Amino acid sequence: MIDRGYIDALTSILGDKGVVTEPAAMATYETGARYDAGRAALVLRPATTTAVSAAVAYCVRNGIAIIPQSGNTGLVSGSTPDGSGAQAVLSLDRLRQRFDLDRDNRSLHVDAGFHLSEVNRRLEAHGLFFPIDLGADPRLGGMLATNTGGSRFLKYGDVRRNTLGLKVVLADAAGTVLDLMSPLRKNNTGVDWKQAFIGTSGAFGIITECVLNLEALPQQVATAYLVPASGNDVMQLLRAMEERLGAYLSAFEGMSGAAVRAALAHVPSLRNPFQGGQVPDYVILAEISRTWQPRDGEQSLDAVLETVLAEIWEMEDAPLADAFVGPAQEMWALRHALSEGVKHAGRLIAFDLSFARGRVMAFCAAMKTELARHFPEVTICDFGHVGDGGVHFNLVVPKDSPAASDPTFETRLRDRVIARTVEDFDGSFSAEHAIGRKNQAYYDSYADQKLKDMARGLKSITSPGAVGTVRFG
Ligand SMILES: Cc1cc2nc3c(=O)[nH]c(=O)nc-3n(C[C@H](O)[C@H](O)[C@H](O)COP(=O)(O)OP(=O)(O)OC[C@H]3O[C@@H](n4cnc5c(N)ncnc54)[C@H](O)[C@@H]3O)c2cc1C
Repeated sequence: MIDRGYIDALTSILGDKGVVTEPAAMATYETGARYDAGRAALVLRPATTTAVSAAVAYCVRNGIAIIPQSGNTGLVSGSTPDGSGAQAVLSLDRLRQRFDLDRDNRSLHVDAGFHLSEVNRRLEAHGLFFPIDLGADPRLGGMLATNTGGSRFLKYGDVRRNTLGLKVVLADAAGTVLDLMSPLRKNNTGVDWKQAFIGTSGAFGIITECVLNLEALPQQVATAYLVPASGNDVMQLLRAMEERLGAYLSAFEGMSGAAVRAALAHVPSLRNPFQGGQVPDYVILAEISRTWQPRDGEQSLDAVLETVLAEIWEMEDAPLADAFVGPAQEMWALRHALSEGVKHAGRLIAFDLSFARGRVMAFCAAMKTELARHFPEVTICDFGHVGDGGVHFNLVVPKDSPAASDPTFETRLRDRVIARTVEDFDGSFSAEHAIGRKNQAYYDSYADQKLKDMARGLKSITSPGAVGTVRFG
């Protein structure tokens, strides 16, 4: 229980709407998207950067630990409090006033509490969008703090690549506001400090505003499901698509048959698009797009995609076993249902890994053999952004298996998968979900000591107060 005096003081700083202490109202802030169920001392809901600064200063001066929370869709146990009941959740859900579009600069100065969907809905009328696409609807602050990647990374890059400026409240006794709000795309007048706050889960401060790069909204889109001749052919297929389609290629997403079957089982409204309902072992969702309206006499984008697929089909040792072009909305609906599908297929033990592009499928093949031998109760339901070397390596254990309730099972499995990823395949154990509590132990094991020392130094001069769930130093 938090001292009543603290609640009264924070209420006088933030107003009645800015402080939540009712257990029922706090529950949604205490429960994460996948794993977490903690207990908060209270929830703070400031509506401006100035209010964030005042609340943070009070918490730091009084030793109250702060957990920043935006959309609460994170998958690594980073956005929710622990079980102590002593931490304050600082939610950005009321920080959503400023929305200043600069049409000429193709940029947006915006409060960090906006949902991605609302940003893109408002930008649609201007023919623009913030080009990060994923199956959840996060808020901007959390996207910045985790450096969200998503399904169109191949064409547009991640949040980092699309961020021009930031405003950050530091967790120090003054709640210092650090203004890094440049709208410039080119600026080499010193250290680019905003990068320290992107992808570092709030450890160095709380992001309250940002300037985002925007892109022209695609006006034509064509999608196809591609069945590679084998796992080894996936990269040849990607190279063949890139050579023929250049900047048109906007997504190249891998889906294992097991993940597709889990999604179809979980969402009965999805249509099984495969002939005779036979889901292949592995399918690629490829998307091409362009930003202008169809012109008279111009080949349609569906026709462009069909032509390219026919060319690849006729290659010697064609990497393609089957392919069909289909409606984009329907094809993406299946792709975006995979995450929830695998979550409901059993006890889920999920990894967000990345590799040099050519090694993703080799890793998956090696793990298929290894897990069958050492962890036979596990089904691999992998999918992900194979076009940029990413794989959501999801392992599902039947709920009635003894392994599902064995507390040591998950640790043994995680240790093995991550050791193989890092030590044998030179990969990353956190591709785009950041560190969070789930990955802290692996950060502690694998990060270089010098880098930890540097992070500790940065922490001490930015946010010496207790903020976030991750320790980098
Ligand atoms: C169905 C589903 C699909 C997903 N697909 C993808 C995907 O394709 N690609 C991908 O990258 N991710 C994906 N995710 C993960 C998740 O959506 C992203 O990590 C997301 O961008 C997190 O944003 P959020 O607003 O929900 O942040 P939260 O979950 O609220 O917070 C995430 C982390 O950031 C910190 N934080 C939050 N706000 C701030 C702030 N203002 N300042 C400083 N720190 C802060 C939190 O303390 C926490 O550590 C998916 C999640 C789901 C549920």
